[in-house]
Amino acid sequence: MRITPRTGLCGVILHPAGHTLSPAMHNAAYERMGLDCVYLAFDVIDIKDAMAGMRSLGIRQFSVSVPHKVEVMKYLDEIDPAAKAIGAVNTVINKDGRLIGYNTDVDGVRLSLTENGVEIKGRKVLLLGAGGAARAIAFVIKEMGGELIVLNRTPSKAKALAEEFGGRWGGLREASRIEADVVVNSTSVGMHPKVDETPIGKDSLRPGTVVFDIVYNPLKTRLLMEAEEAGCKTINGMNMLVYQGARQVELWAGVKPPVEVMKEAFLKGYTG
Ligand code: NAP
Repeated sequence: MRITPRTGLCGVILHPAGHTLSPAMHNAAYERMGLDCVYLAFDVIDIKDAMAGMRSLGIRQFSVSVPHKVEVMKYLDEIDPAAKAIGAVNTVINKDGRLIGYNTDVDGVRLSLTENGVEIKGRKVLLLGAGGAARAIAFVIKEMGGELIVLNRTPSKAKALAEEFGGRWGGLREASRIEADVVVNSTSVGMHPKVDETPIGKDSLRPGTVVFDIVYNPLKTRLLMEAEEAGCKTINGMNMLVYQGARQVELWAGVKPPVEVMKEAFLKGYTG
């Protein structure tokens, strides 16, 4: 691309600056859309300074990653209601100097479920994990009218999440006793490099259950392999990642980006 004096800047802020596919996905979208903008990765320790920098440099959009998603909320002028309810911001938009926080993980979760025709209303949804991503998933499950059960390695965190969003809770071992319609894994278990691990045993997987694993590296986790063997319908984490990124572009550019282009960029950079 050609850099001009008017070229805009967006980026992702994270620490430590590990491998991130966001620059590849966002830049591919900008190029296809003809947006005069670049997207870079920034290793940020001081989030307060980063927000001041965003204002003074006129950076248009930041994607906010680990560990800044909660802390960043202190330095914003406005927070979208869904992000406020979730208690985490993964997107900051600079609207004429006003910094507005959003959580686009909810869009990623919602679309991944709806495009696969997953019925949530009145269904028993087992949410594995109670970390940052689990909060966005719990929000969507309740919004869509699902019956939420949160299981986590540390049960006290499952309890806190279930009490906040409305639902039952327990430890991961309880999975085999629950006949769920939908299982969503939001733990990091099974993620590269520990690809041989899985959050729940095969005895917890029943034919016909929908198993959605939000881990995207690898795309086919051990959980999804075992779910397939057990006759479950499976959904991997790629589209959630792509859709949350696509919504970020839409929020600042005001136009929907080409998601297929973002998916291609993800798959090109994907090493799993
Ligand atoms: P997080 O806040 O650090 O939460 C991690 C969760 O995993 C906690 O519930 C933790 O349980 C559990 N966990 C970690 N190691 C475990 C182990 N050995 N055994 C059992 N449970 C374990 O992380 P996060 O931001 O929620 O992200 C979780 C995963 O989702 C990551 O793999 C991330 O890449 C993925 N993700 C995907 C997308 C997407 O768009 N597809 C978006 C966000 C995140 P404790 O509470 O007991 O520690």
